[in-house]
Amino acid sequence: MTTSRDFTGKVVLITGSTSGIGAVTAVEFARLGAHVVVTGRRKDRVSAVAQQCAEASPTGAKALEVVADVTNDDDCRRLVSDTIKTFKKLDILVNNAGRGSVSRIWDGDILDKYELIMNTNLRSVVRLTNLCVEHLEKTKGNIVNVSSVSAFKPRKPIYPMSKAALDMFTKCVALELGPKGIRANVINPGPVKSEFVEIYRNVTKAKSDELYEEIVKRCPIGRVGEPLDVSKAVLYLSSDEASFVTGCNFVVDGGAQYV
Ligand code: NDP
Repeated sequence: MTTSRDFTGKVVLITGSTSGIGAVTAVEFARLGAHVVVTGRRKDRVSAVAQQCAEASPTGAKALEVVADVTNDDDCRRLVSDTIKTFKKLDILVNNAGRGSVSRIWDGDILDKYELIMNTNLRSVVRLTNLCVEHLEKTKGNIVNVSSVSAFKPRKPIYPMSKAALDMFTKCVALELGPKGIRANVINPGPVKSEFVEIYRNVTKAKSDELYEEIVKRCPIGRVGEPLDVSKAVLYLSSDEASFVTGCNFVVDGGAQYV
């Protein structure tokens, strides 16, 4: 599966680009001509994905490597300032970094989980958006946030709350930033094969195959999502083809009707 858009000369910052959806998205942007910022906490993975980006780029363009924790405000500031120092501008911000949690309201450590999940999935997006607005205004750029279908339906608390709030945040900033020429949209993926699924596998003790079989039963398209399925939606929403699309929830779940 490949995509066919042109991002030549665009500068794209993708959080959580060391694995899964973010890594595939970084490589796809590079393949389509973009200058990419690869970031995450794992240094070895940052370098490995940056290398894949350079190999995919039609000009062999080097990706910028930034090891950063999005829950740390100083790291967020450094991530944005290094991007601007290196590439002199920012066209697209993809807030993709995220983590799951299977928590119950009676858990003794519920507030620790709350802080960890909210800081990673929501507060970091508010911080990075705040830091990037001035740069995106100059390029008439745009923002794509990666949420989840979990935002639509009550389940075990915390993770769905973080994603529902992310959806509303996206709609609020789309309203505020439209007059500045900046679009903001949010993607709600269903289950996608990545390291992320391991957290649920560990809790349910199911083997990956069993877990995926269960998911497939609920999906009319008859397969589990691949990271590239989500990347394609990111590419569309961040491209000029979506110039009249903002404040939108874009569901990528194989029609599983989680909504
Ligand atoms: P992965 O676990 O493969 O990727 C998660 C990414 O987030 C990694 O690159 C990780 O990098 C990064 N990350 C996590 N915490 C931090 C942090 N504190 N600071 C910086 N980076 C961080 O999962 P996916 O690719 O599947 O997940 C991407 C997004 O998609 C997430 O927001 C997730 O909620 C969402 N999603 C995923 C679904 C799925 O089924 N896979 C379904 C619906 C939504 P590192 O460890 O190097 O820091």
